[in-house]
Amino acid sequence: MKINEKGHLVIGEVDAVELAEKYDTPLYVIDENKIRENYRRIYNAFKKRYDKFKILYACKANTNIAIMKILNDEGSGIDAVSPGEIYIALVAGFKPEEILFTGNNVRNDELEFAVESGVMINIDSISQLKRLSKLCNPEEVEISFRINPLVGAGHHEHCITGGEMSKFGIAEKDAVKAYSMAKNLGFKIKGIHCHIGSGILDPSPFLMAVDALTKIAERVSKEVGIEFEFIDIGGGFGIPYKPEEPELNIENLAKKIIEVFKERCDEYNLGNPWLYIEPGRYIVGNAACLLTRVNTIKKSYRKFAGVDAGFNTLIRPAMYGSYHHIIVANKANEEPCEKIDIAGNLCESGDIFARDRELPKLEEGDILAIMDAGAYCFSMSSQYNSRPRPAEVLVKDDKVSIIRERESIIDLLDKQVIPARLLKGGKK
Ligand SMILES: *Cc1c(COP(=O)(O)O)cnc(C)c1O
Repeated sequence: MKINEKGHLVIGEVDAVELAEKYDTPLYVIDENKIRENYRRIYNAFKKRYDKFKILYACKANTNIAIMKILNDEGSGIDAVSPGEIYIALVAGFKPEEILFTGNNVRNDELEFAVESGVMINIDSISQLKRLSKLCNPEEVEISFRINPLVGAGHHEHCITGGEMSKFGIAEKDAVKAYSMAKNLGFKIKGIHCHIGSGILDPSPFLMAVDALTKIAERVSKEVGIEFEFIDIGGGFGIPYKPEEPELNIENLAKKIIEVFKERCDEYNLGNPWLYIEPGRYIVGNAACLLTRVNTIKKSYRKFAGVDAGFNTLIRPAMYGSYHHIIVANKANEEPCEKIDIAGNLCESGDIFARDRELPKLEEGDILAIMDAGAYCFSMSSQYNSRPRPAEVLVKDDKVSIIRERESIIDLLDKQVIPARLLKGGKK
């Protein structure tokens, strides 16, 4: 954490309190250098150990077009989960061949959109394969399958995307069937994929996934006669949210994953496929914070500091019980001296950012920085309670750029229509 001579939190080379004053709160502040550092750290850790390696940024973590452009500039590809994400990625400058579409319960018109966009399609069910085959010329479409390898992990039950309870992917036992159907239909089969969960800070689930996925690839390759161009082990690389949590040792993790990956590729005669990973959180998670201003200090049965953001702005604490570290941006070098609940501005009991958080003495007007808010924060925001979504600014060294304008209350009525019969003087 950087603090200036005024005792204010510094983001890049910019005073967070000045940002809050200039752009108002709530405000997402994203540090471009951190995104680039995170990308390069994880890319280099794998790339130096295995040359045929690619990152597909899982953009549902944060789809702001400026962030997409930064990752395009770094040489990343994209993991897209919806037609909207394909569209944003194309507008950001990614080529169709750099985008893998991993949809879940997708409609036919969404599959058509993916085909017309020319992206590769990662198929989640046999139903999807059959439907896709009817609406395209399979010989022109590149596909892979998402397999559920019965390995799951994650920071919360909702974030475990492999294993028996998961709605994602094709069961292991159906993998051979799925690939042979696809082959008979004439698709261009490129790869095999899994994504086991999110927020994983321990190497072992990844190693189990590599182990399981390569084993399935072996069976498919033998029984169906397919040579895989790539093996995609998904994302899920965690970040520490609590100050005392250790960072993921990415060098050690990459070393272990590549060891197992190479060993299995040799053992199972899989040749020399590309290895893809799909980090989202790891790349953008710690690159942003949410600035919000304390407007109410009150003591009822507990002591509360009420702020001008709510779970419509940042939902992770309410949805997953997640911890987000909070820094008082205008008192960044003061010692904690009280325990206080930080409460949002929505009419919902669950709208609490933190309970019993130890902070310096809070006063109305203080600026709080809710840290590690780059992933699954703005992208999960809503207008609940009819509160407009906040602005986003991008900081690069001492430069600040608005990358999303603040919504106004007028935007709340965007796309809403009053039937004529409800208008005054209208026909009943
Ligand atoms: C969400 C998702 C990811 C990224 O997960 P992180 O935990 O942010 O790394 C990767 N792949 C797929 C298919 C996803 O749905």
